[in-house]
Amino acid sequence: MKEQVPKRFYSEEYFMNEALKEAHKALAKGEVPIGAVIVSNKTIIARAHNLTETLHDVTAHAEMQTITAAASFLGGKYLTECVLYVTLEPCVMCAAAAAWAQIGKIVYAADDEKRGYRMVAYPLLHPKTEVVSGIMASECSRIIKEFFKNRRKLGGTESHEQIPR
Ligand code: ZN
Repeated sequence: MKEQVPKRFYSEEYFMNEALKEAHKALAKGEVPIGAVIVSNKTIIARAHNLTETLHDVTAHAEMQTITAAASFLGGKYLTECVLYVTLEPCVMCAAAAAWAQIGKIVYAADDEKRGYRMVAYPLLHPKTEVVSGIMASECSRIIKEFFKNRRKLGGTESHEQIPR
């Protein structure tokens, strides 16, 4: 395999902004606006947004889709050299999927106080997975808060608030 030298250096903010673009695509479809990208060697190899309503699939979180797509792209199930960028703290399901994939690094924007993986007492992630949080947190959480605010205005019930995706 030829070693690729990145032509440009991309920052954490650059890739998080790409994940946020995915969240906006989810919003346009009436989905809870959460987006993710997976980066390998400074190149985006997978991008996705939450599609649980569209696909009638509770597992269709942005992270799950990017993990599947990245493994398919690389032709191997382990993502040890990859970085997952996601606009909200992963849930327990997605954190466990990232652990199975032995993902190298997770960068998430906003904390999820209700459903985030850190709510679980035991360590979910692979011990070698590095975690960075807070990148563009206010931008990424604002879009989610506004989504729920608008849904309430449209007559949504409070119970929706309890289900983040
Ligand atoms: Zn999830």
